[in-house]
Amino acid sequence: MLLSALAALTLAAAPAPAPAPTPDALKPAADALYPQLEALYCDLHQHPELSLQEAKTSAKMAQKLKQLGYEVTTNVGGYGVVGLLKNGAGPTVMLRTDMDALPVKEANEVRCASHETTKDASGAVVPLMHACGHDIHMASWVGAATLLSKMKDRWRGTLMMVGQPAEEGGGGAASMLKAGLFTRFPKPDVALMVHDMAGQPSGTVALVPGFALAAVDAVNVTFYGRGGHGSMPEKTVDPIVIAARAILAFQTIVSRENSPFDPAVLTVGSIHGGTKHNIIPDEVKLQITVRSYREEVRKHILEGIDRIARAEAMAANAPKPPSVTVEAGNYATYNDPEIVARLKPALAAALGADKVVDAKPLMAAEDFSEYGRAGVKSAMVWVGGVEPKALAAAQAAGTPLPGLHSSSWEPDKEPTLKTGVVALTASALEFLGKP
Ligand SMILES: [Zn+2]
Ligand SMILES: [Zn+2]
Repeated sequence: MLLSALAALTLAAAPAPAPAPTPDALKPAADALYPQLEALYCDLHQHPELSLQEAKTSAKMAQKLKQLGYEVTTNVGGYGVVGLLKNGAGPTVMLRTDMDALPVKEANEVRCASHETTKDASGAVVPLMHACGHDIHMASWVGAATLLSKMKDRWRGTLMMVGQPAEEGGGGAASMLKAGLFTRFPKPDVALMVHDMAGQPSGTVALVPGFALAAVDAVNVTFYGRGGHGSMPEKTVDPIVIAARAILAFQTIVSRENSPFDPAVLTVGSIHGGTKHNIIPDEVKLQITVRSYREEVRKHILEGIDRIARAEAMAANAPKPPSVTVEAGNYATYNDPEIVARLKPALAAALGADKVVDAKPLMAAEDFSEYGRAGVKSAMVWVGGVEPKALAAAQAAGTPLPGLHSSSWEPDKEPTLKTGVVALTASALEFLGKP
């Protein structure tokens, strides 16, 4: 009797292994998670935090991962969070979310709209909004962390969840790397991320093989002249004229010195000099943004700005050479083509072939590029954020819709979030080992 009861218990305790979920089972799994992820999204959207101030947001991310059984380390390079889920021998796959918001006053009057403000680094009170969708990324990332922790029978290896602070400026990725992201923790074989996208229908994902986002450099130039009375230019060196000539000459770096097959942008976005009609000022300041993909192109443009600025100052007999400084910027984001080639069918299987589209590179930037530069094969996936009918109508009418960083940006929440969850989960499963 006892023996047969034991035999029955043993039988009951060893059920047949559950069949591994097929890729198309990820969508219903994301549907089931949606109510809790929507609540998280709503909380994050209502309580945004500026770059380098993500104390509460990172604590929320750490808490979610801990609840799911991840080994969590906080304060990695600022408010960075690392969560590891080890599941036997196999590759290490990193999924990254960004966590910071922007100093933008939200114009949307929706449930969960942000009304918060904070003090920025200069002490000025600024409004706060998740206007770049980093709240969608975090909710998608927690969704993927949840699904992957529940389907450990489907993969082998180490899942590395990285919550990165200060993407919008502040060098979050570089700080995490400097704090030992790839030495204190396993160096991943692949790093992946999603980013929401304006101008792309919700429910879709888009991939760009190779360079996807540009390197960005911010250049400050100050021309020095010798000020004086506007009626006696012969007694002065006019820095406004030097700046005017230099601005036109700078344009020839891209149009005459750079190959038309190498995308590059040089925009003088700000010029400040002088106070009144009849005063020739002592100096003029310029702020320039430089965008490029290839490192040689980037170096050539930066050297060109310095060369032309000096030459124009010398030509005008300026009392001293100009000051040219380059602020720390972003490197170009390169999607490893082999990774993209594997992501395409994996995402098509999970979302439907018609939901995976090709996209063109942009001259915007992301510090996700840092992980690639640190030697990890990486790729980012764009997740469409606009309701398809509204997008089609706007495109037909030629009306612009709000884009990222706009005070009116509002992703088409439910399909965007669910697609983010499925995209991150399917992408991770593609590169994690198979049982
Ligand atoms: Zn942004
Ligand atoms: Zn962003």
